[in-house]
Amino acid sequence: MPDAKPSPADIEKTPDKVKAKAGAKAKPAAKPKATNESKLAKLGLRSDMDLVLHLPMRYEDETQIRPISEAGFMGGNAAQVEGLVTACDIQYRPRRQLVVTIADDSGPLVMRFLNFYGSQVKQFAVGARIRARGEVRHGFFGAEMVHPTYKVVEEGDPLPDALTPVYPAGEGLSQTYLRKAIANALKRVDWRDTLSPALLESLQLQGFEASVKLLHNPPPDVDEYALMERTHPAWTRMKFDELLAQQLSLKRAQQARRAKGAAALPVIGALSESFLKALPFQLTDAQQRVLGEIRADLRESFPMQRLLQGDVGSGKTVVAAMAAAQAIDSGFQAALMAPTEILAEQHFRKIAQWMEPLGVRVAWLTGSLKKKEKEAAQALIGSGEAHLVIGTHALIQEGVEFARLGLVIVDEQHRFGVGQRLALRNKGLDAAGGITGQTAQVSQTVPHQLMMSATPIPRTLAMTYYADLEVSVIDQLPPGRTPIVTRVIDQNRREEVIERVHAAALEGRQVYWVCPLIEESEALQLQTATDTHAALSAALPDLRVGLVHGRMKPAEKQIVMDAFTRAEVHVLVATTVIEVGVDVPNASLMVIEHAERFGLSQLHQLRGRVGRGSAASICLLLYQSPVGQVAKQRLMTMRETTDGFEIARRDLEIRGPGEFLGARQSGEAMLRFADLEADQWLVEKARGLAQELLQTDPATVEAHLARWLGGREEFLKV
Ligand code: ADP
Ligand code: MG
Repeated sequence: MPDAKPSPADIEKTPDKVKAKAGAKAKPAAKPKATNESKLAKLGLRSDMDLVLHLPMRYEDETQIRPISEAGFMGGNAAQVEGLVTACDIQYRPRRQLVVTIADDSGPLVMRFLNFYGSQVKQFAVGARIRARGEVRHGFFGAEMVHPTYKVVEEGDPLPDALTPVYPAGEGLSQTYLRKAIANALKRVDWRDTLSPALLESLQLQGFEASVKLLHNPPPDVDEYALMERTHPAWTRMKFDELLAQQLSLKRAQQARRAKGAAALPVIGALSESFLKALPFQLTDAQQRVLGEIRADLRESFPMQRLLQGDVGSGKTVVAAMAAAQAIDSGFQAALMAPTEILAEQHFRKIAQWMEPLGVRVAWLTGSLKKKEKEAAQALIGSGEAHLVIGTHALIQEGVEFARLGLVIVDEQHRFGVGQRLALRNKGLDAAGGITGQTAQVSQTVPHQLMMSATPIPRTLAMTYYADLEVSVIDQLPPGRTPIVTRVIDQNRREEVIERVHAAALEGRQVYWVCPLIEESEALQLQTATDTHAALSAALPDLRVGLVHGRMKPAEKQIVMDAFTRAEVHVLVATTVIEVGVDVPNASLMVIEHAERFGLSQLHQLRGRVGRGSAASICLLLYQSPVGQVAKQRLMTMRETTDGFEIARRDLEIRGPGEFLGARQSGEAMLRFADLEADQWLVEKARGLAQELLQTDPATVEAHLARWLGGREEFLKV
């Protein structure tokens, strides 16, 4: 028999049930009520309605008792049996366990408990009647259940007439407690349907009360398959309500944003024009299109909140710079915040090089500046002399005050937390309006916000997951790029790969060599980078091999990056610090070691560092066998496509939306029941009704949001 380990839930569930049924005096003192309540709160269950909407993840069928002799033929499903105890022993081999035999008319069953209490032993007195539920296996000694749930019953004790719900539970919350709490809540809540009978009729939806009650206590003859698949009409109603609440609150967030003031930035003037002329290239059609969208937003006197998505290398920076030019032309300041110092510095250099000849004052602010330099930068920002400010999250720190911030640009926005983005936006609060404190409500304005991301999010997801956000997509690469060829190679061919690096360098190409990701230990990661650098330097004595990693001082990093940019370094050994935004067009070969350890979007970002010039680029993904199934899928995806949107789609498939987006910055927490892909048809319906209700029926909007969101609307504000 396989050694089935009891899950922690089983361990704590069983004694609880025993307590409840055996009528032993409950011990409220041992588990103060507050503890359970705080555990409920942790699950987000504060009000009765929260409890009522905490729906079962599955059910146990305790409505029937099966003869023991048949119970083993349930195909791995749990069965419930009832019998009298015929023996009860503590055995010590292969390990200490309680072994209880019960029997009904059809035969005996052995129950094994690997964890048990002394009190349990007493309950299993010979002759006691036990109702047990679990998966029956045929072991060496006949039919067995390992760690069944059970209770002591009297002959003829009634069976439940509905399936028993199993709820998602936090740590230390027993099903018994949850069931009771929910059953009580079901008796107390206000069942009024938020949707009128006419609406339900036209949407072909079931009533709220009937749906909820069915889901908590389904009758034994329910279509269990539809329940499990969540296609039952009761589930459909829940999903619809949830989606409706989401759509309503997204639309409301949008209305709230539009009600806020922002300085209109309507001028496309001398700077915008001369900047465009000075560029060494023409904007692509896609760049022109998204620029048009941004320009239109900036003209409005409510704040833009736009996400600019574009694959790696699609040319987002120029578009951002054009947006900044419009802000400056309109007499305001713009700020550009990047997640790493390397990236910020690169933006600074490039944009300064573009714009300073046109009379734009660009300030530079990062955490690593000396105090004096920082103060100088702050002074420029505060006086308004600096038109454009570029930096890292130092921009949002205390002491940075903008004279008149009109536009905030956040590059690689997914790398920042909600709080950081909010902080930067708030920098504009007092600045643009020029008012602080109590008088603020007179004319509070916030800057326009442009967020950029090269981790493309499928459009439907972006619209439904992110708080109120407009999305622009650059779906075209600048011309003249040759596609990157990707090869997946066994690590034991490293020698050959080094040969190839050598040959490429002699042809005048530059090479990135990316060190393996070691998530557990930064120190180890550093060590690997240094080792790799030493090994490659030794193997390639006639080449210049540089090293850049996250622990280097920004100035040191810059020296190496500069040398690489000037092609004085042939091979750049790097950790993932180069993942984001680094732009050296002459680099056309990339080697990634232990590619199987990286995530898909990370690999895509890394690979995006090559293929930026006109030379044909190659990306070699070295892997160490054996490679797991998921990692293999990732590597194959990388080999098959360079399209960031396709990669994002597959990544989503492999990981699911929650993990894909990261709960922190998404409205994911809002959707517990509906699935945006599978329930797309409901999303459309909900979107339509939301629009209608907001225009015609504010009372229903309020009632519905109160029921479904309670206080959870907060995170939608960013
Ligand atoms: P990303 O979208 O990944 O941030 P960048 O803005 O860094 O991409 O642009 C990648 C490279 O392409 C840069 O060297 C940039 O100057 C160049 N580039 C941007 N737009 C064009 C264009 N329309 N034509 C040619 N090159 C362009
Ligand atoms: Mg970029």
